[in-house]
Amino acid sequence: MHEYSIACEIFEQVIETAKAHGALEVRHIILEMGRLAHINPEQLSFCFKAIAEGSIAENAEFAVEMIPPSLECECGYTGTVNETQIGENGGLQSELLEYIAALECPICGKNARITGGRELIVKSIEIETEVET
Ligand SMILES: [Zn+2]
Repeated sequence: MHEYSIACEIFEQVIETAKAHGALEVRHIILEMGRLAHINPEQLSFCFKAIAEGSIAENAEFAVEMIPPSLECECGYTGTVNETQIGENGGLQSELLEYIAALECPICGKNARITGGRELIVKSIEIETEVET
């Protein structure tokens, strides 16, 4: 499963960061996820919990922030599919999506670059550390 290997990477990253800060427990994980990354947040969370079982991240809450896709061209064009164009079923409803899929600038028709929407970043984690008495 695609999500499983991603969850593994996130887990390693989280544990490494948590240990570097002397964490006893990871309480909260905030992820930034591009809408073009084709990752199911629920599956990812499920896989993460399975991997994290018995670790300090076992009870961590998972929060996912979605990043909308955006396109940029050398002619100066930049475009972002904004969240208001996201339909009730979670699908994006925008003409721009077709241009993004074709990597084509809607203005000049040249090759454009995707500048957002494919990322998967551990934005922040919240940890519990030992309190000195
Ligand atoms: Zn252009």
